[in-house]
Amino acid sequence: MNNSKIKTPMPSQDPNVRNSNFQEVALGYTEEMAVSEAERCLNCKNKPCVSGCPVNVRIPEFIKKVTERKFEEAYEIITSTNSLPAVCGRVCPQETQCEGRCVRGIKGEPVGVGRLERFVADWHREHQEEEKNNVSSAKESNKDKRVAVVGSGPAGLACAGDLINMGYDVTVFESLHKEGGVLVYGIPEFRLPKDIVAYEIDNLKAKGVKFIRDVVIGRSLNVDDLFDQGYQAVFIGTGAGLPRFMNIEGENLVGVYSANEYLTRINLMKAYKDEYDTPIKKHKKVAVVGGGNVAMDAARCAKRMGADVHIVYRRGRDEMPARAEEIQHAEEEGIVFHLLNNPVRILGDDKNEVEKIECIKMELGEPDASGRRRPVPIQGSEFTIDVDAVIMALGTRLNNLICDTTEGLDQNDRGGIKIDEENNACTRPGVFAGGDAVTGAATVIKAMGAGKKGAAGIDAYLNK
Ligand SMILES: Cc1cc2nc3c(=O)[nH]c(=O)nc-3n(C[C@H](O)[C@H](O)[C@H](O)COP(=O)(O)OP(=O)(O)OC[C@H]3O[C@@H](n4cnc5c(N)ncnc54)[C@H](O)[C@@H]3O)c2cc1C
Repeated sequence: MNNSKIKTPMPSQDPNVRNSNFQEVALGYTEEMAVSEAERCLNCKNKPCVSGCPVNVRIPEFIKKVTERKFEEAYEIITSTNSLPAVCGRVCPQETQCEGRCVRGIKGEPVGVGRLERFVADWHREHQEEEKNNVSSAKESNKDKRVAVVGSGPAGLACAGDLINMGYDVTVFESLHKEGGVLVYGIPEFRLPKDIVAYEIDNLKAKGVKFIRDVVIGRSLNVDDLFDQGYQAVFIGTGAGLPRFMNIEGENLVGVYSANEYLTRINLMKAYKDEYDTPIKKHKKVAVVGGGNVAMDAARCAKRMGADVHIVYRRGRDEMPARAEEIQHAEEEGIVFHLLNNPVRILGDDKNEVEKIECIKMELGEPDASGRRRPVPIQGSEFTIDVDAVIMALGTRLNNLICDTTEGLDQNDRGGIKIDEENNACTRPGVFAGGDAVTGAATVIKAMGAGKKGAAGIDAYLNK
């Protein structure tokens, strides 16, 4: 037993080095570090950590295997409920999930469940030559039943993974030229290396999942075409990729980006690599508007592209929705925070390019519907910051394309696709949905949980 009150520290790149490269910030545990951290687990009888995990990973069991150095067995325990452990170990908000319920967290830091999950997944990737193919338990009777999955983000991948394991003939349709959803186009390389995502997708391909890229369902084909082509069920996991703007003066100027567009150019289209000709300007001074994880990712990318970066957020630090770790990393890397400030307009030069952002100072009033204190402008406190680019990171919502082109597919009151919570079935028979397309912007693990539930719903529907 290791009685340390703090987590075994995770080695990471020096902030002054990493803020000019795109390599991974956190470097991962060695075997010794992992065993030492695993020995902090109290192996509680009632396992509060498991109920904090949206896919119920059997956390104390896998951690026990780490203490015994049985890393492959630990991997098998994790992957019995979570098909993307190397991803989740890196990007899950563990502080509000498994680690948030850890008994060790009452008098000190919780056990580093995410760090251990990452270690086990990386150990497996480095030591296993071939993936075991657990499709052998698949039902023979399912093999002629074709299922279409729309979208290859975590919801679609988890759904496809479970369906192929049950023996179905599964095809994933993806609108972009690369699979992975936000894992490849949104979350930057320095938080989630893309070869890890590619490894997980290659595993699905090896099991027989077919991927068809560059197909926008609702444009190139619609859901009816998929049924006409012989698919007997469709899962929609198209995410919530439509950016929000503030509707203020100057948002059409050259040099104003949505965070999604900026991050896509950098992450998916590799604008930071000289050998790629992705059009992106190397800006000198960038304002990023917003206080969530997406704002932190955009700011940290802009920093690595060589800019002086300023985050403008209308509430205070305590109200920032970004993970504490991401805010800390951004600060360490030299990003300047303008808290309790809100943009009122963006000013351009005679070439219509961004020149300044005008902001107003804010104070916090009574709590609003979200429970956070409402920011109220302080009249007459306007000021400007000289910038040559503004990145809007204000959240995203569902693109209505599929609902608009599919008969009988209703929307819920949050604007997402309406489902039956029991089995993720939509209002159109044979169509299922899950992930951000249903809930609006959420998390990787929640999207995966929804994909798994959708797969179970499809299995029940096709075998009724
Ligand atoms: C920058 C950023 C950082 C984030 N950081 C974190 C984090 O650290 N931790 C965390 O847990 N969550 C994070 N999230 C949220 C998380 O990534 C999402 O909740 C999750 O990816 C949702 O998964 P999904 O499968 O529902 O959708 P997505 O990942 O959005 O995947 C949807 C896929 O469907 C495709 N698609 C869309 N429309 C169509 C169509 N009509 N036809 C065919 N294909 C289509 C898209 O191209 C995309 O590939 C972040 C999100 C962003 C944007």
